[in-house]
Amino acid sequence: MDDLHNLYQEVIIDHSHHPHNFCVCNEANHMGDGYNPLCGDKLTLYIKEENGVVEEATFQGSGCAIFMASASMMTDAIKGKKIDEIKELYKNFHVLVTSGDINQTTKNIGKLAVFAGVSEFPVRVKCAILPWHTLKEALDK
Ligand code: ZN
Repeated sequence: MDDLHNLYQEVIIDHSHHPHNFCVCNEANHMGDGYNPLCGDKLTLYIKEENGVVEEATFQGSGCAIFMASASMMTDAIKGKKIDEIKELYKNFHVLVTSGDINQTTKNIGKLAVFAGVSEFPVRVKCAILPWHTLKEALDK
């Protein structure tokens, strides 16, 4: 159980129990739905974007701890950021959770570095990526 313990670090557990931005945003102008059939994670994402900047990001949904923490921390991380910066962050997050290599991504990944351990659990990578994948789709609409 040691590996599992490492994976579910304190930050992740805290966010999964008390997700940030867990509400409907009525002013959203981008929305997306995501579902991970392997685990049962699902979410609806609400993004309010103005002039290429994400001003508000919220979500509703349910799933495993990794997924909930990822959605919670993602919505925190993207608020106030430009779409271009968010796309860069998405790429870096993808590298992080698939390779576990913090050195490649440490410059702007910030708190999201806690997800590096997910790379050791391929099944959980999809859980961590789902909110980001849904975000990309919502912004491309
Ligand atoms: Zn999951």
